[in-house]
Amino acid sequence: MSRRVTLFSTLFALLLTSAATQTSWAELRTDYCSQTFSTVCGDGASPQRDRDTRAATLRTRIQTEATAAARLETGLDPSTELGIMGTGLYWLSYMRHSRQAMLREATAIEIDSIHSNVARIKELLKRALDRQIRFGGWIGDLVNYRLKRKIEGVKILTLLDIEMLNLMRTASGVSISESYRRLCGPEGLTDQAFATTVEGKNYVVLCLGHLVGAIGAGSDSTSNFYNNLQVLAHEMAHFIDYGDYPELYGPYIGCLTDHYAMELPRPAGWTSTMTWMANHASTIDAHVRVTDRAVELTADYWATQTVLEYLREEGRSFSYEDKVRVLRESYAGYCSSPAGNDHPPGRFRVETLLGRDFGIQEIMQCSGLPLANLTPSCTLHGEVE
Ligand SMILES: [Zn+2]
Repeated sequence: MSRRVTLFSTLFALLLTSAATQTSWAELRTDYCSQTFSTVCGDGASPQRDRDTRAATLRTRIQTEATAAARLETGLDPSTELGIMGTGLYWLSYMRHSRQAMLREATAIEIDSIHSNVARIKELLKRALDRQIRFGGWIGDLVNYRLKRKIEGVKILTLLDIEMLNLMRTASGVSISESYRRLCGPEGLTDQAFATTVEGKNYVVLCLGHLVGAIGAGSDSTSNFYNNLQVLAHEMAHFIDYGDYPELYGPYIGCLTDHYAMELPRPAGWTSTMTWMANHASTIDAHVRVTDRAVELTADYWATQTVLEYLREEGRSFSYEDKVRVLRESYAGYCSSPAGNDHPPGRFRVETLLGRDFGIQEIMQCSGLPLANLTPSCTLHGEVE
């Protein structure tokens, strides 16, 4: 009897110990798996506000420096009445100095966050292609080979590259330089990245505003890598997205249409006929909500798979907090981004495209939790329960 009691109490103690150690893990896991958005984005608005603050700090620094240099060079004080000639002279000087300051700031950050990371992020994306494209046979191999060649061929341009191209007055230089000014803003400080094809060559550009949005404002190498991991993969994936390869994404788009279309708002600018049709046929409604954004949805797919490859590679040595940090810093720019006609709302990109991804759920140890399997994960091969 007494032996049995001892055995029972030992078992009970063991159970208690394992319950205690598992509680903290279970709590942590549940956070990401059941509350993906708040785990990655907090209250939703803060990550972007922090990114904007870092860009604003740099903007002030550039403006202060350019103002001082322009005053010194022209001997003019912009707070006084300068007249047309004086104003023109002052602003030309100001613009030149602010360009120089911006270029110097950008080059330091670009070396650390672009030059050191592009090769690695390309490798991760290509590994994701190897893992995902398994049609079998030579057609699958050929598609995979062609897509990887495209990724290899993408050139990531820094601001210095763009300045050089622009100085040479090449058609592509002028065109990319104009795109940079339009999309990145006069000081380059918009939190943006873009992909463009000029004269048959594929380019990706990360605005200075995106680079400086990283935690540490560009001086923390790990944050610089996380800041670019998802975004660079997304932009490079635009050269292999639904626009060029619709046949590749049939099952993926079908799965999103079946399960998640209603989480996407209707694209703006529908005619009354479209609205009438959509109101009467839910399949049309769902189809349009997804296919109108298919280019962005499929670029996001590869971005998630690239982040996943990184976590698979590093995950063994990562704590749960380390993995959450990767996701937070890679997706911070999406947390409060609104829906556009091309882009899905940021919340959908984080909660559904990232949060429902089967591979990420596995890495974050969501399997076995009832919430994780309520909705299917969409892959290139269709849905995974
Ligand atoms: Zn995009």
